[in-house]
Amino acid sequence: MLQRFDYVIVGAGSSGCVLANRLSKDPGTTVCLIEAGPRDSSPLIHVPAGVIGMVPFKNRLNWAFETVPQAGLNGRRGYQPRGRTLGGSSSINAMIYIRGHASDYDDWAAAGNPGWGYADVLPYFKRSENQERGADAFHGAGGELNVADAPSPARPSFAFIESARAAGLPENPDFNGAEQEGAGLYQTNQRKGRRCSSAAAFLRPAEARPNLTILTGCQATRVLLESGVATGVEFDNRGRRESVTATREVILAAGAFGSPQILMLSGVGPADELRRHSIPILHELPGVGANLVDHIDLALLYRSRSSELFGLTPGAILRGAKGLWDLQRHGTGMLTTNYAEAGAFLRTDPRLSRPDIQLHFVNGIVDNHARTMHYTYGMSCHVCVLRPKSFGTLRLNSANPLDAPSIDPAFLAHDDDVATLLAGVKAARAIMEGDPLARYRDEELYTAAARSDDALVQAIRNRADTLYHPVSTCRMGVDEMAVVDPALRVRGIERLRVADAAVMPTLIGGNTHAPAVMIAEKAAELILAR
Ligand SMILES: Cc1cc2nc3c(=O)[nH]c(=O)nc-3n(C[C@H](O)[C@H](O)[C@H](O)COP(=O)(O)OP(=O)(O)OC[C@H]3O[C@@H](n4cnc5c(N)ncnc54)[C@H](O)[C@@H]3O)c2cc1C
Repeated sequence: MLQRFDYVIVGAGSSGCVLANRLSKDPGTTVCLIEAGPRDSSPLIHVPAGVIGMVPFKNRLNWAFETVPQAGLNGRRGYQPRGRTLGGSSSINAMIYIRGHASDYDDWAAAGNPGWGYADVLPYFKRSENQERGADAFHGAGGELNVADAPSPARPSFAFIESARAAGLPENPDFNGAEQEGAGLYQTNQRKGRRCSSAAAFLRPAEARPNLTILTGCQATRVLLESGVATGVEFDNRGRRESVTATREVILAAGAFGSPQILMLSGVGPADELRRHSIPILHELPGVGANLVDHIDLALLYRSRSSELFGLTPGAILRGAKGLWDLQRHGTGMLTTNYAEAGAFLRTDPRLSRPDIQLHFVNGIVDNHARTMHYTYGMSCHVCVLRPKSFGTLRLNSANPLDAPSIDPAFLAHDDDVATLLAGVKAARAIMEGDPLARYRDEELYTAAARSDDALVQAIRNRADTLYHPVSTCRMGVDEMAVVDPALRVRGIERLRVADAAVMPTLIGGNTHAPAVMIAEKAAELILAR
């Protein structure tokens, strides 16, 4: 195998696959992409409904991390699934295509990151996109990442939208268009009813290029540094330590947990943390692993007698067989569902300038990340705080690179997050208890008796957890705690960048896959313009 490359990219997730595609476009440039997980050959990845077979438990495609006990969650440990295969988390996620609010990016620019305002990043969102509805001022057509309307949305998803309208929310046909607020169906990253992960979108068309080497089953253990310059990457290849050389740059795209972990293992990070694990300090950078922020979420769960919803029932399993036929023949049917087909963005206070709560209506019971089974039909409404004020840390459990990192999102440490979630849960309940959903609604599970604010806050602390959007552990910026500069270069180290969800200056108000793709799209341009 070639040992020297122009670029070495660590992590083949939402961002890494984009980088691999863009940087290897020039046949004269050699690129190595290193991924800890296996190839993405499992049908569970490609059949959208298969997500249920990957997320709830640890398996070869899911790191299935746990957080440290969370005081704000009454001492519970949170669950943190992350994709571990080509495509990364975009191979196990719910496929929802959301960019966040335009003002999120203007906030990034205002925080000292020129070139990252909404008008600056919109062209990069559009460049990657193939919007099946066609191009317009907000959308691109002809890009690799397919954005589709749900092929076969279930009727309860429309009932949710109707109920949200009855509760006063406008209907919104495009959350990524002029307005984010309102209720509607989510568009997803699917093509012909199959998941369009970052690997399907960006790696498949590039993987035959002779100048692109993709290493799977290889976990990066550190970046090789010589006098403040990144020269390569060391990795574990099935128990053997190997390395590759990067003659131009190393780019970390191992995600919000992986990228800061690798930096610290390489001797770049907060001095006290490196000392604690006897890692030689090559460059002190206090912000590495700081500022961890994630969407905290509570799901309201309802049993149902309606077979229009999903459930672990003999009837639903039989219909699954027909779903397979529909999928194979037409790219439609129940197996194309991402479960969270509809949703809403709302303001808990009319004086707010933008939504502070997002809802995901799920046409099944998602209890404890689908780890607690219910042998009945049902539905859920996930309620998440879009811009939490609680910040935690990503640290090391040990100096062993194969150990999981120590994850502390400090969920609900800030009282404002509790208050916002409480207001959001009340708004969501008003929608879920509306007439249009009456025929689907049976008993509310767990929280039915929680009618006072105090009781609801207890329910929140007993049951809330992540909506799977950890970011900002290698925050971009210009202050002391920034890890990368606005060109995504690690501050104080040459020829080393981070380009994934870890660099977000703040958590955007929405799902985080599309922004991770955008970040990589812009990173590739910055790298090539060097
Ligand atoms: C269950 C779930 C549902 C979600 N649903 C949605 C959704 O519907 N819509 C949405 O927009 N977002 C969703 N997200 C979030 C979104 O998928 C992530 O924010 C996004 O994929 C992050 O991209 P990334 O490139 O930063 O990291 P990832 O996509 O996680 O990629 C990191 C990659 O690096 C690899 N890696 C890590 N460490 C190493 C190492 N040491 N060596 C080599 N490789 C390494 C990992 O295996 C992985 O492949 C969801 C996430 C999850 C987990």
